[in-house]
Amino acid sequence: MRGILRPDFQYEMLQDIQAEDLQANGIKGLILDLDNTITPWNDRTLTEDVIAWFKKVNDAGIKACIVSNNRGPERVSAVADVLEILYVYRAKKPQKKAFLRGIRVLDIPESEVAVIGDQLFTDVFGGNKLGLKTILVSPIAQREFPGTKVLRFMERLVGRKAKYTRTIKS
Ligand SMILES: [Mg+2]
Repeated sequence: MRGILRPDFQYEMLQDIQAEDLQANGIKGLILDLDNTITPWNDRTLTEDVIAWFKKVNDAGIKACIVSNNRGPERVSAVADVLEILYVYRAKKPQKKAFLRGIRVLDIPESEVAVIGDQLFTDVFGGNKLGLKTILVSPIAQREFPGTKVLRFMERLVGRKAKYTRTIKS
């Protein structure tokens, strides 16, 4: 059980992920979680740092697609438009089909796609189920969807590390 909940890489935040490292790992497409990965939960605030990071990724020839469980498209599309990236909403992560929709939109082979998100039980678990590379980041803010608090408790039970260093799954 633990193996499928273990990310390939862990970072403190999106901006710590180097585009060169993604390229070195053969990654040409990114499936990104929205809430608490790109923006604070239920918020559309984008920091200059985050906008600059997406520009760097784009300049490196890496395509990005938000895959969000948000039920409506408004906030997801607003953020995607600012970042000039693709999006999928009402995705139903951690179901495989959520990630498959992202891969289809990216139009990049599965072996070259990585998932980036802040949750073990949706982003990492779902990505690992499909054999995608998975990258875990710390949540941007403490505030989140009430249901997520239960998942956070479970994350601690399975030993989610509090400290993030660049580690590779062995
Ligand atoms: Mg999230």
